[in-house]
Amino acid sequence: MYLPRPVPAPSVETPEPAAKPEKTIPKSDDGVMPLTALPPEGDLFAEKPGTWPDLAACEADAAGCTKCELSRTRNSVVFGEGAPDARLMFIGEAPGADEDAQGRPFVGRAGKLLDKMIAAMGLARGEVYIANILKCRPPGNRDPLPAEAAACRPYLEAQINLIAPEFICCLGRHAAIRLLGRDEPISRLRGAIHRYNERTRVIVTYHPAYCLRNPDSKRDVWQDLQVVMGELGLEPPRR
Ligand code: URA
Repeated sequence: MYLPRPVPAPSVETPEPAAKPEKTIPKSDDGVMPLTALPPEGDLFAEKPGTWPDLAACEADAAGCTKCELSRTRNSVVFGEGAPDARLMFIGEAPGADEDAQGRPFVGRAGKLLDKMIAAMGLARGEVYIANILKCRPPGNRDPLPAEAAACRPYLEAQINLIAPEFICCLGRHAAIRLLGRDEPISRLRGAIHRYNERTRVIVTYHPAYCLRNPDSKRDVWQDLQVVMGELGLEPPRR
C-alpha cells in the first residue's frame, strides 16, 4: 500500500430519508464544496461474488475474451492498471486508439491530462487504479453499446471487488451511467457522492477528453477531485 491511511475525520454523514439516497454536494462559488450528508443508496452489486481469485487471473481471462464483437476489431484488451490495493480508482469509458495500440488505459492526450489531475491530488499514477467500462476499443471511438458494457461488466465488477477502493471517480457520463445504472445527465450525477457498495463510494466528474475540448470544465473537475481528497484525507502537494 502506497498511500498513508489517514486518521479518519469525524464523519460528516447523517441519515436522510430513504427516498433521496445519496449525498448531495452543494456547489459554492469559492471553490469549496460543503458536504452535506447522505446515506448509502444500497449495496447495488455486492451480492455477486467475484469469480476470480485475483486481478491477474481476471486479466488472463479478459485477454482471451470473445464475448462481444469488439474482440474482432481490437488490437489489445486494455484491462486496467495501477495499485491492486488502491484507495482510489478511476473508471473511464473505453480505450481509444492509443490505448488499443499500447494495451494500457489513458495513455493518449486525455490520459496525460488525467495524469496531471492525479498529480494535483498529490498522488502518483501508480498509487491509483485506472480502468474502463469496456476493455476493448469500440471502432471509431463510438459510444459503448449496452450489450458491450454488459458483456464486460463481470471484469469490472471483479476489479472493483478485488481492489475494494474507498472511492471510484467516474470519468464522464458513460462511465457513470454504466457503473451506477442510472441513465441521467452528467449534470445530475455530478455534485453527489454515490454508493457502489458498503465500502466504495462513487463520484462523477467530466471526462478528461471533454476537459480538453472545454478548458473551463477543468475548474469543475478540480472541485470534484477536492471532494474526493477531503474524504480520503489527502493534501495537495506543496509547490
Ligand atoms: N478514454 C477513456 O475513456 N479511456 C481510456 O482509456 C482512454 C481514453
